[in-house]
Amino acid sequence: MKDLDWNNLGFSYIKTDYRFIAHWKDGKWDEGKLTTDNMLHIHEGSTEIHYGQQCFEGLKAYRCKDGSINLFRPDQNAKRMQHTSDRLLMPRVPTELFIRACKEVVKANQEWLGPYGSGATLYLRPFLFGTGENIGVKTAPEFIFSVFCCPVGAYFKGGLAPSNFITTDYDRAAPMGTGGVKVGGNYAASLLPHELAAEASTPERKFADAIYLDPKTHTKIEEVGAANFFGITKDNKFITPASESILPSITKYSLLYIAKERLGMEAIEGDVYIDQLNQFAEAGACGTAAVISPIERIDDLENGKSYVISKDGKPGPVCEKLYNKLRGIQYGDEPDTHGWVTIVE
Ligand SMILES: *Cc1c(COP(=O)(O)O)cnc(C)c1O
Repeated sequence: MKDLDWNNLGFSYIKTDYRFIAHWKDGKWDEGKLTTDNMLHIHEGSTEIHYGQQCFEGLKAYRCKDGSINLFRPDQNAKRMQHTSDRLLMPRVPTELFIRACKEVVKANQEWLGPYGSGATLYLRPFLFGTGENIGVKTAPEFIFSVFCCPVGAYFKGGLAPSNFITTDYDRAAPMGTGGVKVGGNYAASLLPHELAAEASTPERKFADAIYLDPKTHTKIEEVGAANFFGITKDNKFITPASESILPSITKYSLLYIAKERLGMEAIEGDVYIDQLNQFAEAGACGTAAVISPIERIDDLENGKSYVISKDGKPGPVCEKLYNKLRGIQYGDEPDTHGWVTIVE
């Protein structure tokens, strides 16, 4: 194992030894291979640079108690990338190639994955983009699929800490646009609202990110920054918004499943109106990075209202249970009854 301060890693780029790269040309993918070169040399006419023909994924590798390494639902990331590819007229990366690339990168860089219990994981970043000689607005003649990884630390160092959020007038996606697929353009569009949310912070209250409302009516919650939203109602139901412009979070669907099947809760995908946030005893943002980021308070900019969800600055009991169950499965401490875990070695 490398000599890193595993308990205090953040989320920043650290160059590891190997990354995987595969090329698509003349209608097919090559085998792909590992390389030590972390620089890409691409054509100046690449569609990804000019027209945003690109997408990415994010998942983690976890070190288990017995030293083995788990990936969590990599088949779902492969499927989501295929869905994104279809929307942007890019060739699909076959699930076999996607998972093999992830496994090879983890195996080749396992010295960079910290010990069990440190909270450190290997964050994998698969990405796909159009390249090759081109100038017109059309799909690229060639594509590159690559996966690299970085050691990252636990999102919350001292246990789950609730954060504040504020709504934004901006939309991250249009109703039939690209909100439901993982393309970089959605993130470019989110940089300004994120900055404005941070600037709205006061000495008493720090806003972690912007809450995006549904682009048609601006009355319903869609996403919390780059994470999905869920709430636990006062009568113990798990509710998460349903919309075509929400990016389908693998973490969210895993939590919904756990709420239903392991905690026996009613779990619903339905509308979450911003003016009905008082129905919630707990709420959270969810995604691979933090699993769950509990929500303390939401300020509704448009209507000048605020909703305090967590009153004591602590995560609620259901959030904590959901978090522990999901983390337990990821680290191999809880039984994996649904084949969510892929063992790397
Ligand atoms: C990636 C992403 C998420 C989280 O998805 P996970 O699969 O849970 O990591 C949520 N919202 C947006 C906009 C995303 O890009």
